[in-house]
Amino acid sequence: MTRAGIGYDSHRFEAGLRFVLGGVEIPHERGLAGHSDADVLAHAVTDALLGAAGLGDIGRHFPDTDDRWRDADSIEMLRAARVLVEEGGLAPGHVDATVICEAPKLAPHADAMRERLADALGLDGAAVNVKFTTNEGMGALGRGEGIAAMAVVTLAERGDA
Ligand code: MG
Repeated sequence: MTRAGIGYDSHRFEAGLRFVLGGVEIPHERGLAGHSDADVLAHAVTDALLGAAGLGDIGRHFPDTDDRWRDADSIEMLRAARVLVEEGGLAPGHVDATVICEAPKLAPHADAMRERLADALGLDGAAVNVKFTTNEGMGALGRGEGIAAMAVVTLAERGDA
């Protein structure tokens, strides 16, 4: 039986921070603010992964009150979440994600993000899809105040993943 989980996250842009998305550092005048590296795409995928396994959410496993995860590489959180999932006898099947971002243009970095996410999940790059859209200028995301990401992850019993 296949299980599916969804994830959603958003983070605010702030001047003077590194901009890391899907495990890839992107040159930009602003970065995302958060306790960890604020990788909104990795967080959405992690939440979807944990959700599919019935393991709660990212805040339960990687609380922002825990200094271990201060400025953490979110790809390592994703990897740690995958270990939890695998301990439960499940394995990632495939991932689809959408990033909502007005600027900068992210499509040139899509393949690098896929590879980073796939590696953390023990998947082939072809099993991970990352796509991008804008919010058509509407609301906070449309004004470029931050970025949001949504993800779906499927899991299968280990052995037939
Ligand atoms: Mg987050």
